[in-house]
Amino acid sequence: MSHMRFRSAVTPIRRSFESRRDRDMRRNQLPGVVETVLAERPSVPMHCLRPTVLTQAAERFLGLFPGQVLYAVKCNPAPAVLRALWAGGVRHFDCASAGEVRLVRQMFPDARIHFMHPVKARPAIREAWEWHGVRDFVFDSMDELAKILEETSGAFGDLGLVVRLALPKGGAVYDLSGKFGAEPDEAVRLLRAARAVAGRVGLCFHVGSQCLDPAAWERALDRVGQVIARAGVPLDILDVGGGFPVSYPDVTPPPLEDFIAAIAHGLTRLNLPAFTEVWCEPGRALVAPAQSLVVRIEGRRGDHLFINDGIYGTLSDAGVPGFRFPCRLIRAGEVAPINELVPFSFFGPTCDSADRMKGPFLLPADAREGDWIEIGQLGAYGTCLRTAFNGFDQAVMVDVSDRPLLETPGYQPVEQAA
Ligand SMILES: *Cc1c(COP(=O)(O)O)cnc(C)c1O
Repeated sequence: MSHMRFRSAVTPIRRSFESRRDRDMRRNQLPGVVETVLAERPSVPMHCLRPTVLTQAAERFLGLFPGQVLYAVKCNPAPAVLRALWAGGVRHFDCASAGEVRLVRQMFPDARIHFMHPVKARPAIREAWEWHGVRDFVFDSMDELAKILEETSGAFGDLGLVVRLALPKGGAVYDLSGKFGAEPDEAVRLLRAARAVAGRVGLCFHVGSQCLDPAAWERALDRVGQVIARAGVPLDILDVGGGFPVSYPDVTPPPLEDFIAAIAHGLTRLNLPAFTEVWCEPGRALVAPAQSLVVRIEGRRGDHLFINDGIYGTLSDAGVPGFRFPCRLIRAGEVAPINELVPFSFFGPTCDSADRMKGPFLLPADAREGDWIEIGQLGAYGTCLRTAFNGFDQAVMVDVSDRPLLETPGYQPVEQAA
């Protein structure tokens, strides 16, 4: 196996050598975003990670969900993020590529890794199975089933096979129904075929990302019920996917408790045998609030701010998907001006005219060149989507300790000791 190295466009800010004790002391006394920006005066995008927020989000999710919580690694694979989630009790990981499987295995020899992509590369299946102890694989076609069986060389008893069920378009901001999943008829066939060749079988689905409607899970679970009844195959695994929402400036979703209650309700109706394991695969809900992006204003024209990150960088979701994010202005040399907040649009740094973000993003009316903007809720699908387009691939990363710009509904922040 060749040893390819991961290349990351986001590098931690280097500090001169520090002992473990110094590092722990520093972590206990981490500054907030504003102090960090004023001290570092970053000229490239700066990713501010709140490890405590991550760890608490993981603890909260694990405490509420009645089953195993698999973190969807694609959403933010930064090692610091994975470590903070591990500290919060996450032991299961939803991976979709050989790269993600290797990364998680390298970091956590004891992690349970699940290969949840319905169409995998053959060498990736073989490597995951032979080298990294991956036992559960998702599929949504007979072709993929044959592929998994060939690459795991008739593993049988050890093998877990999970059928991805297609869902009709539902209440999610990001619809994920277009690409993967077997229709119920096909799912029945696949489940029966899997039963004959695997030690454990299951069903999974994904309601779509940032799904605001708890009833979407109940509808999906009813569909699961129809498939189980027709297949006559008891499930070892039922995976209710990800899609749990977070707050944005124009959206306050119901609290996580409501989604868990809807899932519990749907599960009750299914009357599953006691041995069925229930899984979920949250991404966004675990990590979005824990990371901010700090950008610098390079120029202003009316209500357009030219900033040093954009849709080819960390702000992909602010482009075509039109997400709005909470913002805060940070200015050097004086206390940030407290004047009227007005709506702005952002222009990214690349020369592509598509590199614009409509917003509106609310900032003080006198925002100007040289100011920084903290943009919140960017822990998910931000850093990991950066490209090197047009030479704007540099960014730095620091840990901070202040609260996120938006709180999570239903979550009571733990008082920080003074
Ligand atoms: C992306 C993805 C997730 C995570 O979705 P979120 O909306 O971030 O919670 C979970 N499972 C699968 C299969 C995915 O593709």
